[in-house]
Amino acid sequence: MHKEDQPLIFELTKPGRIGYSLPEMDIPEVDMSEMLPEEYVRVEEADLPEVSELDIMRHYTALSKRNHGVDSGFYPLGSCTMKYNPKINENVARFNGFAHVHPLQDESSVQGAMELMYDLQEHLKEITGMDEVTLQPAAGAHGEWTGLMMIRAYHEANGDTNRTKVIVPDSAHGTNPASATVAGFETVTVKSNEHGLVDLEDLKRVVGDDTAALMLTNPNTLGLFEENILEMAEIIHGAGGKLYYDGANLNAVLSKARPGDMGFDVVHLNLHKTFTGPHGGGGPGSGPVGVKADLIPYLPKPVLVKKDDVFTFDYDRPDSIGRVKPYYGNFGINVRAYTYIRTMGPDGLKAVTEYAVLNANYMMRRLSSAYDLPFDRHCKHEFVLSGKRQKKLGVRTLDIAKRLLDFGYHPPTIYFPLNVEECIMIEPTETESKETLDSFIDAMLQIAREAEENPEIVQEAPHTTVIGRLDETLAARKPVLKYVKQ
Ligand SMILES: *Cc1c(COP(=O)(O)O)cnc(C)c1O
Repeated sequence: MHKEDQPLIFELTKPGRIGYSLPEMDIPEVDMSEMLPEEYVRVEEADLPEVSELDIMRHYTALSKRNHGVDSGFYPLGSCTMKYNPKINENVARFNGFAHVHPLQDESSVQGAMELMYDLQEHLKEITGMDEVTLQPAAGAHGEWTGLMMIRAYHEANGDTNRTKVIVPDSAHGTNPASATVAGFETVTVKSNEHGLVDLEDLKRVVGDDTAALMLTNPNTLGLFEENILEMAEIIHGAGGKLYYDGANLNAVLSKARPGDMGFDVVHLNLHKTFTGPHGGGGPGSGPVGVKADLIPYLPKPVLVKKDDVFTFDYDRPDSIGRVKPYYGNFGINVRAYTYIRTMGPDGLKAVTEYAVLNANYMMRRLSSAYDLPFDRHCKHEFVLSGKRQKKLGVRTLDIAKRLLDFGYHPPTIYFPLNVEECIMIEPTETESKETLDSFIDAMLQIAREAEENPEIVQEAPHTTVIGRLDETLAARKPVLKYVKQ
């Protein structure tokens, strides 16, 4: 599989070459065998590559060119909001006063950093329509779990210990049922109707006095706005449950509609999606959680408060669910989100939503000439197509995704949500130009023609990448295949 155009770093090794220079030790050397339990002490030298600094730089620079990121090409991965991360965010996050503060510093010496976090909370309260916000959770799924733990604490405080179930639509992001399970709930699935929205009759059927909450994404994971949201809120609240808003993707409602006004009690946001934090390499992310007034006592502690113009962490929160993250969240990513909100301003954020929705609808309409459109109505920030028509020709959605690599695009999300056959889920985001959208559409239309005229070229794709079709199961289960020295 490995094409021989770039040697492995181990193949560049020349014994004795080093790629680092360290200052001389000014403290006594420690014998690690005295510090560690015997079974953890290395008995053989580690087999590390020996190369010069320049060699290692070139090696990683060459590898980085093979990677696909938002800075190198269009990345329409549905439900992920791969939008451009403005570079001013990076400049600000590198300010000495932000980059070099330590979380254990005395509060009096980091008032500026605390003010930024406080202000960010205030902005997020305004954006979501909630009464209080915590910045502690490290990502979306962590925010979901934090929110559900607060809902659990709320019900328990009311002596309502029978509420063991969380209702989740069948189109929901996989993290929703996972978080509910980790928070100790049982999940109950509610079906979508033929329009791709939550089926109200089915919701009435599954709701009851054991309902702790309904977790909802709106616009939902099919990119459709749940237009019966007020009625759904009434059904859930009427049964004594809480409404949880998965706000990972706020791109379609930002500055237009607020979860708080739709009746939601808890919301999490993904600052590494909507608010332009980079989300490569698994993080760090940031998943702030907003709550309505009756859930404030359960917020993770400490809570950042402002008293007489001084910012301080309040630990005196007897009903808190406790700390969910060391210190106070991923500060660096919060600085980036704050910079984004301040540079965009209210009008800028409104424009984000308008362009995100316009771009998605434009692509959906043009692509519907060649691909099936399971839900033929206006979409929000993303939309789903079905590769059913191509499947009849022997070309699967996976093949279409692989073929897109030959055109230089990161493929969209596929086979998700699960309730759409051969699903292709596309989120263009607002930061792409019409020219970029048109080029991608042209590629998709060409692939649809190829499926009819020359299906092998799609079935055997990709043809232009360093590595061809991967055994994805093996790659996921065994990401590192040991290099064997010749
Ligand atoms: C991305 C996403 C999540 C999970 O967020 P992470 O930061 O990856 O944990 C949850 N729900 C939806 C709808 C998402 O798109």
